[in-house]
Amino acid sequence: MTHLRAAEIHDEIDGDTLHEECGVFGILGHPDAATLTALGLHALQHRGQEAAGIVTFDGAFHTEKRMGLVGDHYTDPAILAKLPGTISIGHTRYSTTGEVALRNVQPLFAELEVGGIAIAHNGNFTNGLTLRRQIIATGAICQSTSDTEVVLHLIARSRHSSTADRFIDAIRQMEGGYAMVAMTRTKLIAARDPIGIRPLVMGELDGKPIFCSETCALDIIGAKYIRDVENGEVIICETQPDGSIQIDARKPANQQPERLCLFEYVYFARPDSVVGGRSVYVARKNMGINLAKESPVEADVVVPVPDGGTPAALGFAQASGIPFEYGIIRNHYVGRTFIEPTQQIRAFGVKLKHSANRAMIEGKRVVLVDDSIVRGTTSLKIVQMIRDAGATEVHIRVASPMIFYPDFYGIDTPNADKLLANQYNDIKAMAKYIGADSLEFLTIDGLYRAVGGEDRNPARPQFTDHYFTGDYPTRLLDKNGETAGLKLSVLASKG
Ligand code: AMP
Repeated sequence: MTHLRAAEIHDEIDGDTLHEECGVFGILGHPDAATLTALGLHALQHRGQEAAGIVTFDGAFHTEKRMGLVGDHYTDPAILAKLPGTISIGHTRYSTTGEVALRNVQPLFAELEVGGIAIAHNGNFTNGLTLRRQIIATGAICQSTSDTEVVLHLIARSRHSSTADRFIDAIRQMEGGYAMVAMTRTKLIAARDPIGIRPLVMGELDGKPIFCSETCALDIIGAKYIRDVENGEVIICETQPDGSIQIDARKPANQQPERLCLFEYVYFARPDSVVGGRSVYVARKNMGINLAKESPVEADVVVPVPDGGTPAALGFAQASGIPFEYGIIRNHYVGRTFIEPTQQIRAFGVKLKHSANRAMIEGKRVVLVDDSIVRGTTSLKIVQMIRDAGATEVHIRVASPMIFYPDFYGIDTPNADKLLANQYNDIKAMAKYIGADSLEFLTIDGLYRAVGGEDRNPARPQFTDHYFTGDYPTRLLDKNGETAGLKLSVLASKG
């Protein structure tokens, strides 16, 4: 079992991290700020369905936070009426470990002597726990278990006079992956981590600036995409006394090449979004095309595991010439499989979510295409379902490489030992466990080519791909130096 050592290490260290995958949105200077934020968050709902919050300012700060879907709450005129003002930020969230509680729901707000500030954060700080311990050691009280609160404490402690400078001072101390929007009484601030792991884009509506996780949140309100917030960049937008908006873009972090998270392309981002200047849909379709070239199979029908596997299955069908059919129908009224925090509910979720379309499966050799295998829960259930519906053969093709390593930058992944790839010595044993006649994964170069057009550059990888390779792009300070051990063990096990 080659990767067990990594699994063992992570078993000890994984329990205390708060993984969050989230969507953020912010707008400045618009009379419908809260409504536009609610719509933007609705478009970003796929990034988190556990809770959503919106903060506005109209002479006073107003905060509304609710558990559940954006549309369940922020379509209510009574709630929107509690959010007056022309500046607003919002957040949609799920967490997989840590507390599910309203006090953790973002944006988080603090009233400081320099004025109030609210922050919404997508990502995960790899030194958040370390800094939190230091803050608590000075006698301060942390009110939430969210890492984002650490940023507020650092802002409060900063010696700079303006909130924007304090914000920059604070985030310079943070490590990991983050895309943040923050607001003060007059400013909307956006910031992306030094290597740009998490996405963040800038748009404009009626001449008013917007920041959001993905372009689909601009499309929903008819806003124009301006550009991506660059890695390591902080953009401060401020309303001037004459009503105009001044935009100040700074690069306080050390210049490093961008390394966007490949998993945004594989699974997380919405297919109609453009992330890092690349269509997520086209990237996913290319993954399927490359997969068909790398791992062809004789079959009668290509069936996607919806919705994640659909664009890759279309690419696979196109490249292989095997017809594409909806052999599995997804119930859209159930959330994403992973969203519920326990394994039992996850497994239950898979049954609730997918059903076999017998007419397209019976008597056929089926190629099932999914975007990724994490724990194997989905594949196990679906192969059984397809066989029960009369398939004569079931071949699985996965549009990303095997996942061996947990993520620490905001993508929900379980402990390394729960990852299917770490439980089996070889792919045949894995296929047997799932019940598939064959199982193949896209290679890392196949994935890189699908997204960026070129093979992975081992000297300077164009993206971050640590869940596949173990090459973590930052140090992981909260892991108490165990990262070094992890990397060494990975290298040793690969050699
Ligand atoms: P699993 O069932 O554990 O093997 O997970 C793989 C399935 O979950 C695939 O169908 C993916 O579309 C989806 N998936 C992959 N990564 C994630 C994630 N981080 N959060 C939620 N769902 C995911």
